[in-house]
Amino acid sequence: MAENKQIEFVMPEQKSIALIAHDNKKHDLIHWCKKNKTILEHHFLCGTGTTAKMVSDQTGLPVRGFNSGPLGGDQQIGARIVEGKIDLVIFFSDPLSAQPHDPDVKALLRIAQVYDIPIANNRATADFIITSPYMDSTYSHTLLDFRHEVNERAKKL
Ligand code: PGA
Repeated sequence: MAENKQIEFVMPEQKSIALIAHDNKKHDLIHWCKKNKTILEHHFLCGTGTTAKMVSDQTGLPVRGFNSGPLGGDQQIGARIVEGKIDLVIFFSDPLSAQPHDPDVKALLRIAQVYDIPIANNRATADFIITSPYMDSTYSHTLLDFRHEVNERAKKL
């Protein structure tokens, strides 16, 4: 097998942050956003539909809303990660309730892992991320060179 070629990606100082909260966690996320408003207002925010609207209404932060999670919002966020348009995800998921869109949630976690995107699925992780020195500096990481990978696979298969 050909060696994996890596490519460098640099996250900018101003991050694109996706916000998602399951229903039982929405108020926790809003509280967390209020607490961290002075940091969050330096970045670009987006989120699944209901979460985005509630955070925006209750904190005054501008949050671009995608579709609601069960209607494909998590998948839209996953697609934006693939396109390099989202730098980190704050996802207050609910471990105690079944979600109709569980496969989408798993897909989002997987694609964040593939693209080496920080993803917080609880408050403590979110606190560690938001206080990281990388929040207001660039962050360089290496990823698999997906274009090279496609070319290699197309030759081989
Ligand atoms: P919502 O979606 O913000 O539209 O409620 C969140 C989710 O359940 O994934």
